[in-house]
Amino acid sequence: MKDKASNIPDLSSLWMPFTANRKFKQHPRLLASAKGMYYTDVDGKQILDSTSGLWCVNAGHGRQEIIDAISRQTSTLDYAPGFQMGHPGAFQAAAAVAAIMPKGLDRIFFTNSGSESVDTALKIALAYHRSRGEGQRTRFIGRERGYHGVGFGGISVGGITPNRKAYSGALLPSVDHLSHTHDLEHNAFSRGQPAWGGHLADQLEELVNLHDASTIAAVIVEPMAGSAGVLLPPKGYLERLRAITEKHGILLIFDEVITAFGRLGAATASEFFGVTPDLITLAKGISNASVPCGAVAIRREIHDSVIDSAADGIELFHGYTYSGHPLAMAAVLATLGIYERDKLFARAHKLAPRFEAAAHALRGTRHVVDIRNLGLVAGIELASRPGAPGARTAEAFQTCFDRGVLLRYTGDTIAVSPPLIIEEDQIDQLFGTIKSVLEKLD
Ligand code: PLP
Repeated sequence: MKDKASNIPDLSSLWMPFTANRKFKQHPRLLASAKGMYYTDVDGKQILDSTSGLWCVNAGHGRQEIIDAISRQTSTLDYAPGFQMGHPGAFQAAAAVAAIMPKGLDRIFFTNSGSESVDTALKIALAYHRSRGEGQRTRFIGRERGYHGVGFGGISVGGITPNRKAYSGALLPSVDHLSHTHDLEHNAFSRGQPAWGGHLADQLEELVNLHDASTIAAVIVEPMAGSAGVLLPPKGYLERLRAITEKHGILLIFDEVITAFGRLGAATASEFFGVTPDLITLAKGISNASVPCGAVAIRREIHDSVIDSAADGIELFHGYTYSGHPLAMAAVLATLGIYERDKLFARAHKLAPRFEAAAHALRGTRHVVDIRNLGLVAGIELASRPGAPGARTAEAFQTCFDRGVLLRYTGDTIAVSPPLIIEEDQIDQLFGTIKSVLEKLD
């Protein structure tokens, strides 16, 4: 029952995802509405969205074109089965996504989330090798501190310990990991890609030596990791991963769930870095988060190999009831239309130096041990409070929220990734609030 006095409903039934449920329910933060760069909470307070929700509302909140497209769609065709059946919107949305993917990755499989996109990409990698008579290639290589969602495939190739340990007996059996690339000793306060660490990609050669290339299906990495605390690829790192995977016939999957759709100032991180993988996982900004949607962009030869080698009938035994859901497809088409019309990727690119300067102006602020940035992303790492890692960022998050700025934090790193429509004075508000909060933090 709703507690009318405080605008807060009964909170007990909902088991909240990735949340300290007990703590939250003592001090709830409830959002009521959103427009442009701002949320409004249930008490009417405005909060600057410095995180695009969860790295997903790239075009800003409440875009009328998307609202109109979804409502038109729901009153015309609310749902259409996607198995042995279709509707025009799914094909149009696939073509629109393909058009902004790197050259050659023009086959699109729709999912509902990043986690599903990751599991889909892993399965397609296996199906591809099998289609070519290399069904023994079943091993995946992920990376420490990688985040690939929460499916069993995603946590197996992922490298975030708390996400894995409770389920460790049930992870995929044939997975190995590269080291992560985060190194404050060499790279603290890097602007853009760090100079040190490209050689860490050579570990892949060691893993190939250990397991033999003939057992390895794919390597999956985030070209820039967000959820693990904004980890940037050192110069040359992604290029080396590409060269080694290519040499050994191993597929390279870039998990672009947060980097695609303008975050770095280009349609994809692949385009931004000039390194083209074999598969790209997508979600979040694909629909501006208005309707859950994800996708995998697949190199055409991979698609053709699986399709052409199959016996008559279904070629890939995989798919979701809501793959290509009409509402999601309408949202994707409207979202991509806004990105193109408003040139939001180019806008992010243009704004990135201003954003970088504002982020690095925090250097010297109390507790700050590193600032790193790329495109419209910044990570601000704090010294751990002795005996209480993560406590400072948690407190900074709460105080900034109270002062009307929404941040994300992972461990001791604050992450900001605002919508691509952010204005310069909002950039100042964002980093100014962080600075004043950190200066007073124990
Ligand atoms: N992959 C990456 C790189 C992500 O950052 C995320 C979510 O943040 C996911 C996968 C999982 O996406 P979802 O939460 O939509 O399942």
